[in-house]
Amino acid sequence: MIKTADIRTISGIDSSVLQYMNNKKHEKVIYCHDSKTNLQAIIAVHNTNLGPALGGTRMWEYDNISNAANDVLRLSRGMTYKAAITGLELGGGKAVIIGNKIDKTDEMMHAFGEFVESFSGTYITAEDVGMTTHDMEMVYKKTNHVVGKPISLGGSGDPSVITAYGVLMGMKGSAKFKWGSDSLKDKKILVQGTGNVGENLIKLLEKESADILIHDVNYNKLQEVNKKYNVSIIENNIYSQKIDIYAPCALGATLNDDTIPILNCSIIAGAANNQLALENKHDIMLTAKDILYAPDFLINAGGLINVYSELKGYSKDKVMRQTENIYDTTIAILQKSKTENISSQQAAFKIAKEKVHSKSIS
Ligand code: NAD
Repeated sequence: MIKTADIRTISGIDSSVLQYMNNKKHEKVIYCHDSKTNLQAIIAVHNTNLGPALGGTRMWEYDNISNAANDVLRLSRGMTYKAAITGLELGGGKAVIIGNKIDKTDEMMHAFGEFVESFSGTYITAEDVGMTTHDMEMVYKKTNHVVGKPISLGGSGDPSVITAYGVLMGMKGSAKFKWGSDSLKDKKILVQGTGNVGENLIKLLEKESADILIHDVNYNKLQEVNKKYNVSIIENNIYSQKIDIYAPCALGATLNDDTIPILNCSIIAGAANNQLALENKHDIMLTAKDILYAPDFLINAGGLINVYSELKGYSKDKVMRQTENIYDTTIAILQKSKTENISSQQAAFKIAKEKVHSKSIS
């Protein structure tokens, strides 16, 4: 039996988490427990001013419910700004399922689908960390409010191709702003992480005749990519390499107190989420070093554009056109950052907030 309750009524949540929720004006945050399948989940809808709240479902073994709530609150807010800066008619939302993915069952996913359905379309879900395409199919059995479905189910398929294209657009926009030309020919570009997005980006950079360096902790994948493309492998000291562009496409928080002092590049433009370890510190450290940072939540939005298109009737052409806009938006953000003497991250947030702020969110 599924039981749901407003998160504010659940015991054991840190007051700081609830304070954050009130400060950031989340519209609706609901906790769900299903005793039959042992589903424990939270769905957070941060803001729906621009459209229904869209954001993936993450399954993670959180230490406690406060950590899970903290994660879902921050991630859902991030989605509001990502959609806004990208110009989509979408709000920000996110879901977390508390537990180890090995304990996941189809019945649990059905129960989660019913939970999503109880939002009547104000929250739309998608795949994120700890979830698989099969899981999303199980969720879809109980609700239509699922995007990122496989092509066989009328979905838009693998988003990483489009994400990589958006990153390329952000990189070229950054190059145009920094060097006056968006040509990447012979530019030394380090791609950290040769996974789904990284490999697609390498393919595009090869067409641009860039001088590509690659790094990954997965030795086999690195060798596989090395065989397919004209690239050079970097094994050590990646952050201090003298390069033109650093493209983080692996994990977050690689821009931090340890790496920024030794970075030897002019531009950072990559797909990884949350590249800045501390948003209001490390963006300023980069500016002080005259390193141009292309905000991750803008330039990695291709995947979001791709799933969004499922709601409007999928059109590859439209998706490509919208993703191409990342080039102009990147330049607009960098211009604002220069004019107002603020970091590019702050400029991006300001533009995103302006888009939704007429209706007052924080
Ligand atoms: P992926 O799992 O396919 O690839 C990640 C790669 O990074 C793997 O090959 C892994 O071995 C490597 N890696 C992990 N830790 C590393 C480290 N310390 N140093 C070097 N390499 C390391 O993931 P992906 O789908 O390619 O996504 C890459 C990043 O982009 C992630 O941060 C993801 O959140 C973000 N992102 C992806 C999409 C998308 O469409 N897939 C959209 C937006 C953002």
